[in-house]
Amino acid sequence: MKKKQFKAESKRLLDLMINSIYTNKEIFLRELISNASDAIDKLYYMSLTDRKVKLEKDDFYIKIDVDKDKNTLTIRDNGIGMSEEELEDNLGTIAQSGTLLFKEENKNKETECIGQFGVGFYSAFMVSDEIEVLSKKYGEKKAHIWKSSGADGYTIDEAEKEDYGTEITLHLKEDTDDEKYSKYADEFTVESLIKKYSDYIKYPIKMDLTHEHENEETKEKEVHTHEETINSMVPLWKKNKNEVSDEDYDRFYMDKFYDYEKPLATIHSSVEGKCSYNALLYIPAKAPYDFYTKEFEKGLELYSNGVMIMEKCGDLLPDYFSFVRGLVDTPDVSLNISREMLQQDAQVKTIAKSIETKIKKELESMLEERREDYEKFFKTFGINIKFGIYNSFGANNETLKDLIMFYSSTEKKLTTLKEYVERMKEDQDCIYYACGETVDKIDLLPQTDQAKEKGYEVLYLTEYVDEFALQMLKEYDKKKFINVSSKEFDLDTKEEKEELEKHNEDSKDMFSIMKEGLDVKDIRFTKKLKNHPVCLTTEGNVSTEMEKVINAMPTDETIKAEKILEINESHPIVEKLQKLYKEDKEELKKYSKVLYAQARLIEGLPIDNPTEITNLICDIITK
Ligand code: ADP
Ligand code: MG
Repeated sequence: MKKKQFKAESKRLLDLMINSIYTNKEIFLRELISNASDAIDKLYYMSLTDRKVKLEKDDFYIKIDVDKDKNTLTIRDNGIGMSEEELEDNLGTIAQSGTLLFKEENKNKETECIGQFGVGFYSAFMVSDEIEVLSKKYGEKKAHIWKSSGADGYTIDEAEKEDYGTEITLHLKEDTDDEKYSKYADEFTVESLIKKYSDYIKYPIKMDLTHEHENEETKEKEVHTHEETINSMVPLWKKNKNEVSDEDYDRFYMDKFYDYEKPLATIHSSVEGKCSYNALLYIPAKAPYDFYTKEFEKGLELYSNGVMIMEKCGDLLPDYFSFVRGLVDTPDVSLNISREMLQQDAQVKTIAKSIETKIKKELESMLEERREDYEKFFKTFGINIKFGIYNSFGANNETLKDLIMFYSSTEKKLTTLKEYVERMKEDQDCIYYACGETVDKIDLLPQTDQAKEKGYEVLYLTEYVDEFALQMLKEYDKKKFINVSSKEFDLDTKEEKEELEKHNEDSKDMFSIMKEGLDVKDIRFTKKLKNHPVCLTTEGNVSTEMEKVINAMPTDETIKAEKILEINESHPIVEKLQKLYKEDKEELKKYSKVLYAQARLIEGLPIDNPTEITNLICDIITK
């Protein structure tokens, strides 16, 4: 038969297709299997609507054969098949989808075909030099074969084929340095591609698999070939919740995501409406080993009617829930959608929003009903949520504020902000917190003494992101956050304040001598220390903890907290300082330096001049 040209635009489109729509060559198999599944769907549908067609669901299958010697791969189905005219229409015109037509003709009926774009078939040219499509339409006598070697056209001839259905043979390209096309004629590779992309195709996908056995008597190796079904067929997420046991969910998670531990929570939801989807989501008990590295890529698997179209669709998850694993299956996104197109896809955005709400609800109910699990979750992934608050400059405060926890000085365990506020004393109008490396270290901070003494609860912030997150939150339930090491922290009564004010005023000259050579904005007396002689507090927005964090980052930026050296008014050191002020001002300066160094050490700040300080201490001791 005379060679026919593809329709004009088709030629250019084919070129474009092969070279740019798909970046990932291996998906061709998924496309052909999806087409086979669609073809079976169509015939199965006919059997349901036409009593003359006597076929059962179990009669249908897809068969894949590889031939290493011939370097071919064959995909066979016993679906509806194509007539000569259909071969011409569907495979001669790119972007012509017989499946879309079928869907439109059978609107509102239960069909679940995958195709609609009319380009999937051509992806096979990414890996093949020549493609043959042998097809016999159900109910017709004649079969036809369509052959093409790519952009220069195709032929259609009459051919022999016993049964209805379609058989597509790919003559694979020669291997190059960059690409080993011959792997698509390799049993193992093809098997794993089927598992990866087409595991949930509704019909069995069969392959002849070879296995080596040792013969028990002769001890010789024997090769056996068995036809096996590769795909698992029923997607768990499409089942009814009451058909699936907890064990089923857990096993599916552990198999799919290679985790040894059961997930902490499972979310299975099915949404119908403007945007329909099924989702099966898991909150892992442990972070994957690379979770806190740059290499980690968030995302959910994205399926279109049971066919995987993307392994990690990042757009489906906000960063602060990046620990969630699982998948989303929706008929509303096309098989052929690219990563770039997905980002702007309105459906994907709607689904992402809905998923976010579901995850949040699940976490909230875990917090309410399974406190221990929630704390476990929070110890693993809490930092991610706190980062979410910090990174979004407050935009996600509402979503996240009730999910975070901190260690509480009075409860001696993790607490939420809501619980803190519920426990607040009547006269209290702020939420107090203290920062440090560990709970134990914060517990020993002199600044927490007064709060504890007067019975106020203090939140202990041990993670470096904590204070930044609270700054973004600004307040909770209209209660401001106050660092016990800041000037704002003030529990003194009016009388105490006046008394302190006077005392400070009287010592002004002494303080100004002490300040010489110290990196502080001010020195003053305080009543908030119990036994400790000194502490550092700060003024303004930058705390000493933030100074530490920012200066530890590998950037040129450095910042400085405005520090104030506070001296315990009722500590014996005061008398000593006053005596030195009268008798030996040089000695007073030395003492000040030592006291300042002491305050820095308690705060966990470095000392710039350790040699000088240690010598000074020695001086004082030996006097
Ligand atoms: P789509 O699947 O998006 O419609 P394809 O390029 O994958 O586009 O396929 C084009 C058309 O070719 C299909 O719509 C279908 O009508 C027809 N087709 C492809 N493969 C088969 C098959 N195995 N059996 C029957 N028809 C097929
Ligand atoms: Mg298709």
